[in-house]
Amino acid sequence: ATPTALMVGTGRGAQLGILIKGPEVLESTRRVDTVVLDKTGTVTTGRMTLQEVYAADGTDEERVLRLAGALERASEHPVARAVAAGAEARTGPLAAVDGFENVAGLGVRGTVEGHEVLVGRARLLEEAGIALPQELVTFKTRAEEDGRTAVAVAWDGVARGVVTVADAVKETSAEAVRALRALGLRPVLLTGDNRTVAESVARAVGIDTADVIAEVLPRDKVDVIERLRSEGRTVAMVGDGVNDAAALATADLGLAMGTGTDAAIEASDLTLVRGDLRVAADAIRLSRKTLSTIR
Ligand code: ADP
Ligand code: MG
Repeated sequence: ATPTALMVGTGRGAQLGILIKGPEVLESTRRVDTVVLDKTGTVTTGRMTLQEVYAADGTDEERVLRLAGALERASEHPVARAVAAGAEARTGPLAAVDGFENVAGLGVRGTVEGHEVLVGRARLLEEAGIALPQELVTFKTRAEEDGRTAVAVAWDGVARGVVTVADAVKETSAEAVRALRALGLRPVLLTGDNRTVAESVARAVGIDTADVIAEVLPRDKVDVIERLRSEGRTVAMVGDGVNDAAALATADLGLAMGTGTDAAIEASDLTLVRGDLRVAADAIRLSRKTLSTIR
């Protein structure tokens, strides 16, 4: 392998908006046959906005929103930001939180106005011994079928409402998936979000619903990559979040969105500077071409 050809490859990469950690990473792209795409922030914009607030019978909607918003203000998660910003915009300044705790991939808990509040996936509530009444399940399922992420709100041991947030699929994602397929790669969608929501995003961008891996806890994303590799696949992963860092490092080729977190960028071999998923296909095409020039 001539170092000069590899250097030309990295120089061309910079022009395309691809930062390559070292010329040697191009080697690993040669056999890549599977590309795992993180959903939130990678395939979607990750800029979520509050949509609906639903209160269980006998509960005040505004109260659901205010307690959820106050708690979520302490979290950096995109769902949390949407809930907090929406609550503040609709109802005014939010109360303080005590004893805030983030439960990775599940949600948050803490004390607001003297109430022990939980906001997150149904599983977070279940683990605290709180059941979701049918009324809330029905509302939540309908929102998810429409592609919105729905989180449950409970306080003092009772589930009292559901709030929904919407994210938008990036305009370029469907084209990016087509370009990756044209390179012979099999796209897989990986997310901690609900399966119904994930399948709706998959359909929008042209990923087979059989290739959707959803409701995966942050620490388990690595296991998904390892499982695909143990099946004999050579795996590229594209991600942006703190939650994706370990999986990006484990993949044969890790690609970070330049618009993402430092943790994801540091764990990756390549960075897509502008956060444009179409450039992932350019990156793989470029490195294959660079390598064939060498051979
Ligand atoms: P992704 O893999 O799509 O980046 P995460 O693993 O970060 O998603 O989160 C998975 C799911 O956990 C979210 O879709 C949401 O339902 C729930 N969740 C995580 N953090 C929070 C939070 N702060 N508030 C509410 N829900 C949350
Ligand atoms: Mg993400």
